[in-house]
Amino acid sequence: MKRNFIKMRNRIMITLAGVCLAVGTVCFATAIFGLNNERLVERNPVPAMKRGVDSASSFYAATSKSQFVSKVSSMPSAVSDMSSATSAVSSTPEAIPETPRNPSGRTAYLTFDDGPSSLTAPLLDLLDKYRVKATFFVVGTNDRDETAHLQEIVRRGHAIGVHSYTHNYRQIYASADAFFADFDKMHGLIQQATGVNTKICRFPGGSVNGYNKATRKAILSELKKRGYVYYDWNVSSGDAERKTSPRMISQNTIQGVMSHRTSIVLFHNTSLKGETLRQLPGILAALQKEGCTFSALTPSVDNRSFIF
Ligand code: ZN
Repeated sequence: MKRNFIKMRNRIMITLAGVCLAVGTVCFATAIFGLNNERLVERNPVPAMKRGVDSASSFYAATSKSQFVSKVSSMPSAVSDMSSATSAVSSTPEAIPETPRNPSGRTAYLTFDDGPSSLTAPLLDLLDKYRVKATFFVVGTNDRDETAHLQEIVRRGHAIGVHSYTHNYRQIYASADAFFADFDKMHGLIQQATGVNTKICRFPGGSVNGYNKATRKAILSELKKRGYVYYDWNVSSGDAERKTSPRMISQNTIQGVMSHRTSIVLFHNTSLKGETLRQLPGILAALQKEGCTFSALTPSVDNRSFIF
């Protein structure tokens, strides 16, 4: 009887010891695993910009239009707001690198047609903020601030070129003489305002358009004789087309620039192009992050790749 009791007690004690050992092992393992998991997270924090937004196009996809637009309610006083909107969505100190961290050898010549306008000053501020030099193909506006705008474009280190004085297709493409009467007027206005004897230009509507079929050859020949270099573009932001959504302006530009080693990008700078300004911070931040360099056009830039 006593032996049976001792046997039973031993079994119970062995069982209890086994249970304690098992529970202890589970607790210990859980504690270690949990700690390791936390350490793993601390050691490898995922940078905000790495969370699925590595490429320029996906950067935009991750940055909704409303994030920009909600901060930018009105133009043109919105440039400072635009800046904060940009830094809010693009890892703050890295948004405007001094020099690209990963130079890609990719160059983009941003061009702005049809200005100057009331949106020239905010555009110049924005380009300064991103340390970007661009090119302005200007028109005659009869605006009393035109001289000041032209001067400021040059003072800030951008290139300036002739677009047209009247921008009236029927009038300027009627003959070579009509074209140069208009062209010379704009060239003179630029030179008088800024002292720059510009040698670069862009045809209204591009070098091949629906109005210059009969006069194109004569105009090109005279232009060459006078030593001017004209530039079309190989990337269009689409900002002049009514059907282009704000998101498409960014997508067209980013994808276009990323698919060329050298690109000339068409934008506009009339007083109606507030959306272009609103999209630019996102565009510039994304492309600078990809190592893209922005330069102003000079007549030495070979125009052959940029003629339609
Ligand atoms: Zn134009």
